[in-house]
Order: sequence, then structure tokens, then C-alpha cells
Amino acid sequence: MSTPPNQRLKELRELLNTYSYQYHVLDEPTVSDAVYDGLMRELKGLEADHPDLITPDSPTQRVGNELLGGFKKVRHSSRMLSLNDVFDRSEVQAWVERMNKLLPGQKHEFFADIKMDGLACALIYEDGLFVQAITRGDSFIGEDITSNVRTIKNVPLRLRENKTFHGFLQGRTEIRGEIIMLKRDFEKLNEQQKAAGKPTYANPRNLAAGTVRQLDPKLVAARPLRFRAYDLLRDDPTEVATHIMAYEAISALGLSRNQQESVFTSVHDVMHFVDEWDEKRHSLPFNTDGLVIKLNNRAEYAQLGVVGKQPRGAVAYKYAAEQATTIVKDIVISIGRTGAATPVAVFDPVVVAGTTVQHASLHNADEIERKDVRIGDTVVIFKAGDIIPQVESVVTELRPKNAKPFDFAHELQRQYPELEFVRPADEVVYRVKGATGPLLLKKALEHFASRGALDIDTLGEKNVVALVDADLAHDLADIYVITKQDLLKLDRFADISAQKLVDAIAAKKRPPLERFVYGLGIRHVGVQTAIDIVNAFGSLDGLVHATIDQLKAVDGVGEVVAESIAAWFADEDNLALLDKFKELGVEPQYERKTGKLNGKSFVVTGTLESMGRDLAAEKIRAQGGTFQSSLGKDTDYLVVGSNVGASKLAKAAKYNTIQITEQQLLEML
Ligand code: NAD
Repeated sequence: MSTPPNQRLKELRELLNTYSYQYHVLDEPTVSDAVYDGLMRELKGLEADHPDLITPDSPTQRVGNELLGGFKKVRHSSRMLSLNDVFDRSEVQAWVERMNKLLPGQKHEFFADIKMDGLACALIYEDGLFVQAITRGDSFIGEDITSNVRTIKNVPLRLRENKTFHGFLQGRTEIRGEIIMLKRDFEKLNEQQKAAGKPTYANPRNLAAGTVRQLDPKLVAARPLRFRAYDLLRDDPTEVATHIMAYEAISALGLSRNQQESVFTSVHDVMHFVDEWDEKRHSLPFNTDGLVIKLNNRAEYAQLGVVGKQPRGAVAYKYAAEQATTIVKDIVISIGRTGAATPVAVFDPVVVAGTTVQHASLHNADEIERKDVRIGDTVVIFKAGDIIPQVESVVTELRPKNAKPFDFAHELQRQYPELEFVRPADEVVYRVKGATGPLLLKKALEHFASRGALDIDTLGEKNVVALVDADLAHDLADIYVITKQDLLKLDRFADISAQKLVDAIAAKKRPPLERFVYGLGIRHVGVQTAIDIVNAFGSLDGLVHATIDQLKAVDGVGEVVAESIAAWFADEDNLALLDKFKELGVEPQYERKTGKLNGKSFVVTGTLESMGRDLAAEKIRAQGGTFQSSLGKDTDYLVVGSNVGASKLAKAAKYNTIQITEQQLLEML
């Protein structure tokens, strides 16, 4: 259920242009910058894959938006550009490598500063006198907001005399910077609004932008705006050789600017600066959404030129946002240990708050209905710090035409045809009918301790029932907590039997990973599938983070099995259980099984004389072989016991499977 790329491109363009209009023209954004940036990233990716589909009205090609009426339009002396976003070290590295290709053999100096979240503005000084202020506009043409900017108290009406940059008081000097409102001023204003019973403002950036484009300068003067410069242009660019020099001039000429700028000679040092400001930026007096990193040498910067609307010589480093956008690929249902059915959204992997996330619990049927999450939907994911990721909302504008509301009851039936579910009238949760918590737990524990799993022989059905009924085990991990004293309180146990059970459990604190995974009782994960997925991912952590597509790539794992595994590892209860195992010191060990039967697959048909089917499977696996339950094209050997049906043999002949006797199998083993 995915939208074709040309359709998706069109929808993203339209939606981003709407957001951009609301943000840049109306100063009333309807979504957060993280959501805008997330969709923009997707658009850029699609355009990179389909360059023939780029249109001139794409938001990737334009700065800002159309201009608001009421102000005189002015052409900029040189374009006021936007900046390309980078989100991590590898993207900074890639940016530097691109520059290295264009400027081979140059040793770069990087100039970095805090990126202010305000409104870009150019101040024009003629012979030292302030004559004009222009917004960035569409990068070529801006709006003349001179009378409003005149009211901003830290904009000098005449540049300061000084010896070093005396020349900049002659001719035309253009100072570019950001009009901002300090956080404390913004809060004070909002308090006044509240006290007067008036609506409060959304954020300092949009209030500053909205204010500066008021037609009445008196209103502007009443609002505490500030200007902070970050660039200085002269008609003769050689007068300003580096960005650090521009900053020195800005201060010397009497303008405000940030004080955090720094020059570095390596990406390593740049990244150190990035890390340093990740936390510290919150204590700055103004809002910031990242850092600006540029080449310090302005001749090189100019030589690199512009692609689209972004200079090649600079990037905006954006810090990890707590929101991101992605597309829901599937909604799978996981059955927890109490029999509760939990829907889980599985989506394209996406980085939120610094970690890659690919599934999130949707909690229950009501929650899905309330948020109306559908397969194919573009959703906003929220994650803060250690908090578990959540689907915050759906971007309904990007919904595929054929996306249907999620039919929970129907999906339960499809994904679990063998089970019956009930939803008590006063509950939001569907549960497995007839399965009470203890009953399911007993079954799960028995399976966990069974021969193919952890193989704890003293923990059979009767002992499991006794432990659960005595409230000693509430989940699989609890068996590792039980002490001899606990057991001695029960009728079933005496000194020796209690000690024996405790020892048997303690002896299985480092079980083979495939047995542990099989023991978890993930639906559709039998012994062989457990071995296959463990071999494919090599660790429990690898499995926890496996995507459905990665799981499907494992031989013998189809869509249904992959969904079931992903759903299990996305269930918060299950993840908590895995954490509990870890805390209790249970550490499954991964060791790739290798032996004489490496890479060979077997099917046993009929009755064997020397051993049962399970034992045969175990012996084959112990030698690195694969034991299959039914014959397929990929089966290497069919072990033929007694009482074999003709159809199996015919199938084996069709697939060219080698037929061997029990004796031959024993020899191979
Ligand atoms: P940008 O504004 O993020 O970056 C370029 C600008 O950074 C420059 O023009 C400059 O004015 C400014 N800047 C601030 N501090 C600077 C410094 N120290 N040195 C140099 N420049 C500095 O880029 P853009 O593409 O024009 O705007 C996109 C921004 O607007 C994004 O942050 C985006 O999230 C936001 N946006 C949000 C919505 C929404 O609906 N929420 C819509 C459109 C755009």
C-alpha cells in the first residue's frame, strides 16, 4: 500500500508548500519544524532518486515563500540563501568530502556558530548610515521593512567609528543577521497576554517574524525585538577574507552578534563543538535549532558556489529532534503473557531523539481508532530521552487513497486464526478467550523449560503448576529468583528436591541463544526457525532490532513469521521481560553450530528404528545441519524410514532430493 513516487512527490510538495506558507508568510506554523524537516528529508531523498521529477515549485528549490503585500519589494545585492541540513557526523564528513573533491589539496578551516531561530534580515549602510532593512523573502527579492527595523534598539543607525575597519564606513556595507526575540522577553509578553485575558503566542520565532512585518511601526516598537548579525558584505569581497574577520568587523562597527563562534581545522574538533553545544544550547537566552558550519575562507566559500538554494560551503547542523516522520508498513498484533492483544505499528526505520526506531506500540483498538492509524499512513513519531517511542499523530494529507481503517477484530482473526478473542464490555483490550493469565503462564513456563528449549528437566508440568499457583512465578524470568526457602514452604518439596530444582535452574543461566529464543514461545518460531534467525542476527540485541524485511530475508522465514517475530520484540512487556532476564544475570550465549552437516538440510519421513524424530532433529542440528518439517526444493536429503507414503518419494524425485536410509544418516552423523 504505497503511493507511487510521482504521486508521493506531488503530495509532499503541495503539503510542504502549504506548511511553508503558514510558517513564512502567515507566521502561524501548524506543525513543528521537526515534522517539516522530516518530510523535507523524504522529498529530497525521492528527488535524488528521481531527478527528472523535480519541479521548479518544489520547496527544495525555493527559499522562503511568496511575499506578503504591503511592503515595497527590493532586490538583494546577492541572494540570501538557505542552508543544507546535516544531522550527524557522517553527514558532516560527507559534506567535507564533497568540498575536497571540488577543492582538491586544500586544507580547510571551519567556522562554526550557533544557529539562531529567528527571521533573516539584511541591513544596508551607506557611508556608515543605516538606509534600508530587507527581509530574506524568496532569496532574490525581499520586503523593505526599514521603518520597523529602525525601532529595534540594538540596530545602530550609524556604524561606529573604529581604526581597524574604518574603510567599512565608506561606500556600501551590508550586514546580514537574524531578528529574534529573547526567551525571557517572549515569556514576559505571554504573561501579559494571559493577564489581559488575551491569547498567548506560539513561539518567539514566529512572533518576531510576525511583528517585524506589521504595517504599524509603533506596534513594532512596543515589542522587544533584537538583531544579531552573522555576515558582512562589501562590494569588493576581498576586503573581508574570512568569516572570523567579518565577525570582528561586526563587533567593531557596533552591532550585536553571538559570542560562541569558533574556528577549527578538523571535523573531529567541529564535532566536539557540536557535542559541547548539544546540552549547553538550552541555556542560551534565545532559541536555536542547531549550529551553522561554514568554510572560514570566503574566497573558497564563494568558489564552491550554490546548488539549488544552498551554498556548498556551509551546512546547518540540526540536533536530534524528539519528533520524526515515517511511513507505517504494517500493523501486527502481539499476544502478551496475559493474553492481551497489543497492536504494534511497524515502520521504515527512522532516527528520533538520536536512536533508530522501527516500531511502536499502538496500545489497543481504541487508541488505533482515536488516532486513526492505517497501514500506508505517514505518521509523526515522538520519542524523548529514554521514553518509549510513540505514534503521535497521522499526517492525513499524505494518506494513500486506498488506505482502509484498521479493522482490529478482522486482523485478529487473520493473524491468529486458531484463537478466539473476547473484548469485555468495559475494556479497551481484546484478550484470548478462556486464557487467564496463570493458565497462559503455566503453558509458557512449561515450554520455556522443555527439552528443545532450556531443558530444565526437574521443571516439568507439576512443578510449574505448583510455582505459579503459589505465586512464586509471574513471568518466565521469575524462576531465576526462586530460592530453596521459597520452595520448602510448598508441600511438593523437601530438602533434596528443592535444592535440585534451584540448582537445575541456576545451571541454565547461560543457555544457548537459539534455545532461549525458542523458549520465549514466539508464535511460529519453532526450533529450526529459532536457529535460523539466531544464526542470521547473531545476538538477542540483533533480533530485537531486526526489521521485518531483514527477517524475511532469512531462509525459511516468510511474511507471517517475520511479522510475528517483529511484533514480539516490539511489545513493551516482552522487552521488559528481556531486561529482567539481563538484570538477573541470564545471558544467552551465541555459538554458531558447525559440523559435518553444515549447510545441509534434511527431512525425515516414516518411522526410524534407532531414535525418534526429535532426537534425529537434535543430532542433525548439533552437526550444523537444518532439520525441515516438510520437503521443499531446498531439501538436500530425505531420510526414508519404514512405512513411507509414495507421494513423499515422488516429491523427492521431482525435487532431485537425495534419498538416504536411516543407516546412512547414522554414518553421516
Ligand atoms: P534555515 O532558516 O533553517 O537556515 C538558513 C538561515 O539560517 C539563514 O538564512 C540565516 O538567516 C539563519 N541563521 C541563523 N543563525 C545563523 C548564523 N549564526 N549564521 C548563519 N546563518 C544563520 O533554512 P530555511 O530552509 O530557509 O528555513 C527552513 C527552516 O524553517 C527550518 O528550520 C524549517 O524547519 C523551518 N520551517 C518550518 C515550517 C513549519 O511548518 N514548521 C515550515 C517551513 C520552514
